[in-house]
Amino acid sequence: MQNEVRALLILQDRDRRLLALAKDLEKLPQDEARAKAKLAGDEAALAKAHQALLDCELRVKKIELDAETRRTTIKRLKLQQFETRKNDEFQALGHEIVRYEKDLDDFETKELEAMDEVDTFRNAQKAAEAALSQTRKLVEEDLASIAERHARTQTDRSEVTAEREKLVLLVPEEIIPLYNRLMKTKAGLAIAPLRDGKCEGCHMKLIASTVMKAQTGKEITQCEDCGRILYVEE
Ligand SMILES: [Zn+2]
Repeated sequence: MQNEVRALLILQDRDRRLLALAKDLEKLPQDEARAKAKLAGDEAALAKAHQALLDCELRVKKIELDAETRRTTIKRLKLQQFETRKNDEFQALGHEIVRYEKDLDDFETKELEAMDEVDTFRNAQKAAEAALSQTRKLVEEDLASIAERHARTQTDRSEVTAEREKLVLLVPEEIIPLYNRLMKTKAGLAIAPLRDGKCEGCHMKLIASTVMKAQTGKEITQCEDCGRILYVEE
C-alpha cells in the first residue's frame, strides 16, 4: 500500500472518530432535556394530587359549617319549643326540629364520607411525593452521567484533534482538498477498499484498468463511479 494512502486511512479513522464524537455531543442536550422532562411530569402529578387534597379538605370544612348551622338552628328551635305554651306552636316546632335533625344527619353522613376521601387523597399525595423523590434521584444520576459523558467526550475530542493535526502533516498537501471534499460528500468515508474488483464504498464493479492502477499503487486511484480513493488491502 502506498504510504500516502496509509496516512490517509489513519487520518480518516481519526476524522470518523471526530464525527462520532461531535454527534454524541449534539445528542447530549436532548438527553438532558429528556431527563428533566421526567421530573416535570412527576412535579405536575404531585401538584395535582396536592390540589385535589386541598379541594377535598375545603369540602369537609363547608359540610362542617352547614352542619353547625343546623345544630344552632335546632338548639334555637328547642329553646322556643321549651318556652312556648301554645300546643299547636309546640307541635309545629317539633316538626321543624325533626326536619332539621334529618338534615343534620345527612350532613354528618356526608362529612364522614368526605373525610374518608381526604384520607384517600392524602395517601395519593404521599405516593406522588414518593414517586417524585424517586424520580429526582434517578434524574440527578442521569444528569451527573450526562455531565460526565460531556466532559469525557470533550477530552476525547481535543485529544483526537491534536492527533489529527500531526497526522495531516503526513499526507501530501495536494491530496487534502480531494480528501476533504470526499469526507463531506461521502458521509465520512473518503477512502474505500477495493475487494473482488469492486469498490467497497459504492459496491460498483470497477473497470479493469482502475483495478490495475490501484493494484500497482503508484498513484492515487479513484472509483470511477463514486470518486472515492481506492486502496488494496494487504
Ligand atoms: Zn465507488
